[in-house]
Amino acid sequence: MLRFPFDNSYARLPGGFYQRSAAATVSRPQLVALNRSLAEALGLDLADTDEAGLAEIFAGVQLPEGAQPLAMAYSGHQFGNFVPTLGDGRALLLGEVIDASGQRRDIQLKGAGRTPFSRGGDGLCPLGPGIREYLVSEAMHALGVPTTRALALVTTGETALREVAHPASVLTRVAASHVRVGTFQYFAARDDRDNLERLADYVIQRHYPEIEGSEAPYRDLLAAIAARQAVLIAHWMRLGFIHGVMNTDNMAVSGETIDYGPCAFMDEFRADARFSFIDQHGRYAYANQPALAVWNLSRLAEAMLPLLHDDQDTAVTIAQEVLEGFMPAYEKHWLEEMRRKLGLLDAHDDDGDLAYSLFEAMQANRVDFTLLFQRLSTVVDQPTEADAVRVLFGQPEDWDAWEARWRQRLDAETGDGEARKQMMLAANPAVIPRNHLIERAIRAAEDDGDFAVFHRLREALIRPFEVSPGDHDLVQPPEPGERVTQTFCGT
Ligand code: AMP
Ligand code: MG
Repeated sequence: MLRFPFDNSYARLPGGFYQRSAAATVSRPQLVALNRSLAEALGLDLADTDEAGLAEIFAGVQLPEGAQPLAMAYSGHQFGNFVPTLGDGRALLLGEVIDASGQRRDIQLKGAGRTPFSRGGDGLCPLGPGIREYLVSEAMHALGVPTTRALALVTTGETALREVAHPASVLTRVAASHVRVGTFQYFAARDDRDNLERLADYVIQRHYPEIEGSEAPYRDLLAAIAARQAVLIAHWMRLGFIHGVMNTDNMAVSGETIDYGPCAFMDEFRADARFSFIDQHGRYAYANQPALAVWNLSRLAEAMLPLLHDDQDTAVTIAQEVLEGFMPAYEKHWLEEMRRKLGLLDAHDDDGDLAYSLFEAMQANRVDFTLLFQRLSTVVDQPTEADAVRVLFGQPEDWDAWEARWRQRLDAETGDGEARKQMMLAANPAVIPRNHLIERAIRAAEDDGDFAVFHRLREALIRPFEVSPGDHDLVQPPEPGERVTQTFCGT
């Protein structure tokens, strides 16, 4: 049987960190997808296991040797409201493996049935959200964004009842860890200083070993987590990605994107774009994401106050100093990303303004985010072809004005044109998991048991910067009738 080289550090922590739990039995596990290159990187030997065996393992029916399934405990602010006990209600951590690069990775089954943290929920993952998470997380990885990965997707033969009945699935998620801001809040809310400190030490050892032995390790930990979030959010913004549910339980302290519920990539650019059905007030809209990261990090800082200093006022001052560093760090990363997208080899003071003025013109003309940047990289060295971009603007004079400014800025550079072109092509993807494409894959799978659309997308999304002739329909924005205006987290 498939062997995982487990070494389970989280299970060695005290019982307060989790509840042991087991997967539900299911009637008919079937393998939908296995991510073979990831399996290899994790050191899994697939040779002796047939598809039925793989389906049983990734449905949680067969427990691989050395697995110690558990549901992690955490709290969280959901849409601003604190919930002291959330925890893994539909996920089981099987254990951890050390991958080929020496990184410790969690192996988690999402949708394997009820746990002690399920509250009213059924612990199941409908097939649609399973497909969405698989496609989007693997696309994000290919796009160079820190993210959890998808190792496998199975259907279980069970039914997940939401408004209507859906086939149930289990997604096997791989993560640097599943420790969240909400994990810190869990112990803080219980005044459990010992476990709070134990958790902080665990996170330092696992994610930030360079801090070990520092004079102020917990201050440095808060700063390091904030620094990785600044990088992460800049990645989201450069791609037009909207996470959709940035609750504190969905912010991983590793700096990976986690929890692909109602997430979406925008088509037309809108600063206030949001898709999640449950985000009625736009709390987690596109342009709010940097500020929301600060909000979440402030909740982390609050939880960590007892570790920052014995004197509370001093602790608050330390936390504030750290948090003040977030926006400047984020803006620096964002500007670097934008320079790559716009083909700016040098740094000039008004580059941020050049980028903002493009976004303004895009918003006024409802221009497709991905198509615009992709075409910018194809016309950068061919001004006579610029019509390919111009046609995206309802008021072409908006493009003309911006293009003139952009060309002037490019002319002021001395760098190599070919280097610029390559930089832009590598920064501006063509194939992204657009909402309507995901929806198409879900509908075919759920309605007709047809996974061909899913597999085609899966293969295209891992090479986002290449456009092959057969990809035309994957690169285009949705037709008016295909536009997805709302996404659901599927819980
Ligand atoms: P999420 O919105 O996916 O971040 O989940 C928030 C909380 O609700 C977490 O504690 C989940 O484990 C729990 N949860 C979500 N869906 C379910 C479900 N179907 N069954 C049990 N718990 C769930
Ligand atoms: Mg969550």
